Amino acid sequence: MPVNTPFLDKPLPQQVAVLGCTGSIGTQTLQVIEQFPEKLQVAGLFAGTNTVLLAEQLAAFTPAMAGLKDSACWQRSGVDGGLVEQLSGIDGLCAMASHPDVDIVVVGLVGAIGIQPTLAALRAGKRVLTANKETFVAAGHLIQPYLDQIIPIDSEHSAIYQCLAGCRKEDVAKLWLTASGGPFRQLSLAEMAAVTPAQALKHPNWSMGAKISIDSATMMNKGLEVIEAHWLFGMPVANIEIVVHPQSTVHSGVELIDGSVLTQWGTADMRVPIQYGFSAPHRWPTPFASQVTLRPETLSTLDFEPPDEDRFPALRLARQAADSGGWATTVLNAANEIAVTRFLKEEICFVDIPVCVEAAVAACTMRLATPTLAEVLQLDEWAREHAASWFPTTTTVLCKSS
Ligand code: MG
Repeated sequence: MPVNTPFLDKPLPQQVAVLGCTGSIGTQTLQVIEQFPEKLQVAGLFAGTNTVLLAEQLAAFTPAMAGLKDSACWQRSGVDGGLVEQLSGIDGLCAMASHPDVDIVVVGLVGAIGIQPTLAALRAGKRVLTANKETFVAAGHLIQPYLDQIIPIDSEHSAIYQCLAGCRKEDVAKLWLTASGGPFRQLSLAEMAAVTPAQALKHPNWSMGAKISIDSATMMNKGLEVIEAHWLFGMPVANIEIVVHPQSTVHSGVELIDGSVLTQWGTADMRVPIQYGFSAPHRWPTPFASQVTLRPETLSTLDFEPPDEDRFPALRLARQAADSGGWATTVLNAANEIAVTRFLKEEICFVDIPVCVEAAVAACTMRLATPTLAEVLQLDEWAREHAASWFPTTTTVLCKSS
């Protein structure tokens, strides 16, 4: 279990690299950074293919380094190579994450692409603020030796991290992960078979990227977060409970051995956990008070209910994979990334996503409990290919006929 160790001994302003700077986490991270110019400065920005937004961010923050997916993106961007060091690809991500001028790395990348840059940053001694749960799912055992450098900014894990400050490990009985339940919380399986990508992308409470929005709709997101919490807090998966809480106001909590439960509340605004990632274990006054201040008297009800693993089989799959070992969580994660992409392209239907994932885990023969990095990457590639060539049988019939 991590201790809230101060990381404030570096000279100010601390130099920040933002990986995934044009995504939801990246843009909100930059909103926080620009409010604290004496404390934080942008040293590097790494985007994927959004050259237009990256060019705007470069003009606003003037970092020394920037990254894009590949050199074709750089050509398209029109950014002057004399103004900024231009990096690209996985090598560029790792170079930025481990650069000597960087103090803090924010990992807002989506998917297992985060594994290598996260490890590079950790090995180089950086403080890592991460919302990239897939890296924990696919390679948690490789990240674990560096836990004291990591501050989670995934809202649930930030909540647990904050609740654990001041708790002894032996006093913690359980972790509670709250889940909104996503947009299809009340749909039957038959109704879910007919949902479109546009419907699945509409999250009731949080504004997020496409991949995590679909994961929230299948509740795979919560399954992945159970595994993330397992690695972050050293808690057995069996002691991590999911509670469906549609209002997303209680962000998660900790049950102690004497029956006390500590929870963290707040509005559904990622800038709060991101800012805490920078300030931890201290607090900075929020510059977004009018948007993030919680007014309890405006909340009419807070509901809590158990999750339904029959309608949301992804929850069961994630727990099973965690019990099976490193190979299974790596395969689960990679197959899910591909299944989500295929659903968004309307190649498979919504209820096929967990079926595709389960098929990949069942077919994998490289069953290594603690794969090395090279083996993780091999398992990841194998699972992507398996999921990409998988074809549904019965669920497609259900999907097409409805
Ligand atoms: Mg979350």
